[in-house]
Amino acid sequence: MASVYCPSDQHEFQAETRQLLDIVAKSLYSEKEVFIRELISNASDALEKLRYLELTGADVLNSEIPLEIHIRTDDAKKTFTLQDTGLGLTRDELVENLGTIAKSGSKAFVEQLKGKNDVASSLIGQFGVGFYSTFMVGEKVEVYTQSYKSDEPAYKWTSDGTGSYEISEAEGVQRGTKIVVHLKGDCYDYSKEDKINEIVKKYSNFVGVPIFLNGKKA
Ligand code: ADP
Ligand code: MG
Repeated sequence: MASVYCPSDQHEFQAETRQLLDIVAKSLYSEKEVFIRELISNASDALEKLRYLELTGADVLNSEIPLEIHIRTDDAKKTFTLQDTGLGLTRDELVENLGTIAKSGSKAFVEQLKGKNDVASSLIGQFGVGFYSTFMVGEKVEVYTQSYKSDEPAYKWTSDGTGSYEISEAEGVQRGTKIVVHLKGDCYDYSKEDKINEIVKKYSNFVGVPIFLNGKKA
C-alpha cells in the first residue's frame, strides 16, 4: 500500500491562551525554574492516572514499561527534555489540553491580569501557569506523545508560543509524553546537568515514581 501523506496541521491558540502565553514569554519573573516543577507535576499526574487505569483493569499499551520520569539535558543542543511513561495524550486531548485554558488556575490568572501587566510577575508565582510556563525559558517547545490507548497513533505537538501550534503524526514514540524545550539564549543554564540536579532535588520530594537525570537516579 502506498504510504499516506500526512501533513502537519496548524491550529490557532484560543484567544485567552495567546494572551497568557504573551505574558509568560515576556515575563521578567525571576524564578523561571518553576517550569521544572510544573513539568514534574504533570508527569507525576500522568503516571498516577496510568497506574489507576492499570489497577482498574483497563487495556494499557506496553504495560511492561516501568512508571518513571526521565530528564535529559543537552548542553550542546541547548535543550531540556522531560519524559514520562504515563497515559499520554490523544490528538483530541492535545488540542483540548495544550491549546486552551481549561484549567481554573490559568483562567483566574488571566482574569486578574486584565489591564494590569505590571503585576504579571507576582501573579505567575501565585497561580502557576502549568505547561505554558515552559515558554518562559523556551523559544520552541516540542511535545511527543503516545496515548495508552493502543489504537491511537503517536503525535508531535510543536509551538514557538506565539499565535499557533502544529500537530503531526510521529514515529517511534514510547507510551507517555516527552517534552523537549529548546532554550532561549538567556536560559541556557537549564541545559546544564549540575544546575538541573539541584532544582530537581527541590521538587522531587512528593513524587511517587523514580526520577532519572541523564540516566542516573536523581
Ligand atoms: P494542570 O496540570 O493544572 O491541569 P497544565 O497546564 O499543567 O494544567 O496541564 C494542562 C493539561 O495538559 C493537564 O491537565 C493534562 O490533561 C495535560 N497534560 C500536561 N502534561 C501532561 C503529560 N505529561 N501527560 C499527559 N497529559 C498532560
Ligand atoms: Mg500542571
